[in-house]
Amino acid sequence: MKKYNFNAGPSILPREVIENTAKQILDFNGIGLSLAEISHRSKDFQPVIDEATALIKELLNVPEGYSVLFLGGGASLEFCMIPCNFLKKKAAYLNTGVWSKKAIKEAKHFGEVVEVASSADDNYTFIPKGWTCPDDVDYLHITTNNTIYGTELREEPNVNVPLIGDMSSDIFSRPVDVAKYDCIYAGAQKNLSMAGVTLVIVKDEALGKVEREIPTMLNYQTHVDKGSMFNTPPVVPIYTCLETLRWIKKNGGVEEMDRRAHERAELLYAEIDRNKLFRGTVAKEDRSLMNICFVMNDEYKELEKAFFDFATSKGMVGIKGHRSVGGFRASCYNAMSVEGVKALVQCMQEFEAQN
Ligand SMILES: *Cc1c(COP(=O)(O)O)cnc(C)c1O
Repeated sequence: MKKYNFNAGPSILPREVIENTAKQILDFNGIGLSLAEISHRSKDFQPVIDEATALIKELLNVPEGYSVLFLGGGASLEFCMIPCNFLKKKAAYLNTGVWSKKAIKEAKHFGEVVEVASSADDNYTFIPKGWTCPDDVDYLHITTNNTIYGTELREEPNVNVPLIGDMSSDIFSRPVDVAKYDCIYAGAQKNLSMAGVTLVIVKDEALGKVEREIPTMLNYQTHVDKGSMFNTPPVVPIYTCLETLRWIKKNGGVEEMDRRAHERAELLYAEIDRNKLFRGTVAKEDRSLMNICFVMNDEYKELEKAFFDFATSKGMVGIKGHRSVGGFRASCYNAMSVEGVKALVQCMQEFEAQN
């Protein structure tokens, strides 16, 4: 039976990305050695980082004056590196979910944090609007896609300070105006690669402005100066990242990824809204195109497990909702086909007909 991978992360990658990585792990570029056993400083690997960097700049239209880094530690380490490198006295954070909250917690180690708005009291079911950001903060941090709750901020808030964006779960799913950001970061295992590498895009002139001493490994400048090779970078995940970027380019770039994301999400949300058994969990205008959350309507609550088992029997994988939302979450990253979403919609329709 064909499996459809709706996991939230680590998550679906294009089949050819997996296959090409597997080949290179067996024999990298025909050199008779595995990608997993060569030096990151070898002449064979440098072109991988160079091409990945060039593709990231091309696909996201990154302006001059930004560096692309491949780091370890996941997006969670960036929660600490960001304030360590950019927070002089005061920073602003928009609290839209668990990941924002974790970023806020780390920032408080380094200075004053202004929470410009929060939807925590409503279990993060919407993106707060109508708030203002003080002009005297060093940056405003946003989480562009809230992986757990299924809300997304697809337009940058209109503020007078530089933005910093956690784009772990929607990077490369749509065009982004990089010039508005001092830094963008993304753990790769949602939409870009396997776990183990974090993509960071940082504005060079925003670095070196804090007075604190920054430990070497936590200093973005270290990694800018050494081209992500201060220490051993995650070689295999970076290679997989390159394969994904090639795939995105071949498939029409981020504009086409955006179009596909809309197509998938419209299909699935339309069914959630139509089907008597289900309802969405977040404000319609804030619905994520990447992580689509839904629950059973109250009168059908007892059917939750039965639907999960039914969908699983039809090949749906990873649709269980996060424990803080319950119900279901279908993560529809770039590599998810429309066919996969149609298969899930069909499950929902068949299950409705049976009940
Ligand atoms: C998954 C996720 C993180 C955490 O990523 P790690 O790489 O596991 O540290 C942070 N932010 C968002 C938006 C995420 O989806």
